[in-house]
Amino acid sequence: MIIDGKKIAKDLRKNLKNEIENLKNNIKPYLVVILIGDNTASKIYVKNKEKSASEVGIKSKVIKFEVNINEKDLINKIEDLNSDTSVHGILVQLPLPKHIDERKIISKINPLKDVDGFHPVNVGNLSSGNDAMIPCTPLGCYLLLKDTIQNLSGKNVVIIGRSNINGKPMAQLLLKENCTVTVAHSKTKNIEKICQHADIIVVAVGKPKMINKDWVNKNSVVIDVGINRIEEKGFKKIVGDADFENIKNEVSAITPVPGGVGPMTIACLLKNTLKAYKNQVK
Ligand code: NAP
Repeated sequence: MIIDGKKIAKDLRKNLKNEIENLKNNIKPYLVVILIGDNTASKIYVKNKEKSASEVGIKSKVIKFEVNINEKDLINKIEDLNSDTSVHGILVQLPLPKHIDERKIISKINPLKDVDGFHPVNVGNLSSGNDAMIPCTPLGCYLLLKDTIQNLSGKNVVIIGRSNINGKPMAQLLLKENCTVTVAHSKTKNIEKICQHADIIVVAVGKPKMINKDWVNKNSVVIDVGINRIEEKGFKKIVGDADFENIKNEVSAITPVPGGVGPMTIACLLKNTLKAYKNQVK
């Protein structure tokens, strides 16, 4: 089974649009994105976020700064947005220029408006099992898994990658679902062997086609977060961390790249913006 992230994300966006249309007041959810510098990938991501927000009825604005903006000016802007009650979600597009301390900037966002779920308060709430803003990509993976398996309790999961934006929050989400979770990383020995017995593999590494037939079994569900740009037979293409063509018939279900986790990430940003709105507008 190919897990159709595009369709599941479309359904999610449709539900969000419905919910936003039926809000019982005239205030629309409002997302502000801060974009610093000239990074081409960041500009594309931000444009897609703006477009998807407007399609579901979320108001959005992009505030652009030159690459040499100083930390203090950026913090002042975030504090203004924190105290602006018309703004419900704030997202600072990462990565930031090297002279700006990413952790410090994220910690300045009001946790209620932190639609990326990276603020330490949200990280702590997620790991304590409390209500939290959940980072968009792991939330998207979780929704894909729920759509595919429904009852995750007792499943043996291997997560490959332990980044703050992917692997760690994914582990917390699946622990909460009573999965047995192993988190593997670059220092883990025999990952291939560990994966062979997993019911679910979530891979977020950034190594093209790392997972092949030898890593999976007939019952495995593979969620592939990786986005890798490669050149194959003279053509540029995007592939995941799993060798999709080689293993799609060897597993129970798998997400394609593109068309799997990617569309869910943006849909979950919209979901988080609506959640932030509901937490602030009573
Ligand atoms: P990251 O911060 O670079 O983390 C990569 C993780 O992979 C680290 O924990 C690293 O281990 C581990 N790793 C590296 N080589 C490994 C190996 N050979 N075996 C096992 N583990 C290994 O990356 P990230 O930001 O989480 O992103 C991961 C991938 O997801 C990238 O391709 C990125 O483009 C993609 N991504 C996709 C989406 C989406 O919407 N689909 C969103 C975000 C990211 P150590 O901790 O030991 O270094």
